[in-house]
Amino acid sequence: MKIRTLPADAKVEDVIICGSGPAGLTAALYTARANLAPLVLEGMQPGGQLTITTEVENFPGFEHGVMGPELMETMRAQVQRFGTRLEMDEVVRCELDAQPFALHTANGATLYTRALIIATGASAKYLGLPSETRLRGHGVSACATCDGFFFRGVEIAVVGGGDSAAEEASFLTKFASRVHLLVRRDALRASKIMAKRVEDNPKITTHWFTEVAEVLGDKDVSGLRVRDTRTGETQDWPNIKGLFLAIGHQPNSAPFAPWVEHDAVGYLKGVPGTSKTAIPGVFLAGDIQDSVYRQAVTAAGSGCMAAIDAERWLESLHEG
Ligand code: NDP
Repeated sequence: MKIRTLPADAKVEDVIICGSGPAGLTAALYTARANLAPLVLEGMQPGGQLTITTEVENFPGFEHGVMGPELMETMRAQVQRFGTRLEMDEVVRCELDAQPFALHTANGATLYTRALIIATGASAKYLGLPSETRLRGHGVSACATCDGFFFRGVEIAVVGGGDSAAEEASFLTKFASRVHLLVRRDALRASKIMAKRVEDNPKITTHWFTEVAEVLGDKDVSGLRVRDTRTGETQDWPNIKGLFLAIGHQPNSAPFAPWVEHDAVGYLKGVPGTSKTAIPGVFLAGDIQDSVYRQAVTAAGSGCMAAIDAERWLESLHEG
């Protein structure tokens, strides 16, 4: 790889980690304990997606569950204890064609690093309604696995027609008395097997040509105003007490996508079975490279892999 010409006063980091969810902070924990003094750019949502969930009951080690924000605060304190530096900044553009890599940040800094771990995650897509934003965490959710448990015995709605919507609707029937699946056209995009599972489930009612016009409620969701996408006619459904969005996730890969291989949606692709990419010194962890599992614990596991791969790669630089 080419060698970058640096300004005289440039400081070169060993490793910069972009993202501060479970993937980024686990990568920080391991690289910090390997004496690499990592710098974490926390991004605009420090702690990542877990900071917008309530109780996390499926992270190992917490018999009685833990609140998402508390879990992330603990991870943060843990990585700081080993010398990780955290900065409230994010990469907006980068140059990964020469060593060290150059990262340009939202705060206007240019940072240089030998190894880069990309753990910027993905964000669930929302409809963009103000009422939906206001009631997020109060009956509106984009994570059935995280929040389904809170909707025992009530009617809820799921928006979307893809595999996520089909999977979440099926999963939510474990808790809800009825799941209304709102599909904006006349067909599901989901695979045949998932669509059949929805069709065969007596607790799911599919409403075709239906979209959410408004989420009703003051403090918590107390109903839905839905719209017929053909006629524009609306009606209120006061029985609905929860709304789950399953209209896809958007990986936060824009600054890196010009350099790192990615799929059509923007998920970055690495060398299978490792955290490596085609660019030596660039590693991936967490949801940025995972459209399938998307769990805190899998993200943490891949953060550990990225840290170990980065450490070994830095060692090989010294040896070479
Ligand atoms: P998809 O992009 O596949 O589907 C999104 C769905 O949401 C579509 O039905 C789309 O409608 C609908 N939608 C999008 N925007 C809106 C909106 N504003 N209002 C109403 N509806 C909207 O996303 P998924 O998250 O479902 O899946 C992503 C990928 O992950 C896919 O490749 C999928 O196969 C995979 N996956 C696989 C699973 C499995 O195999 N177990 C589980 C989950 C995901 P329209 O069709 O009209 O565009």
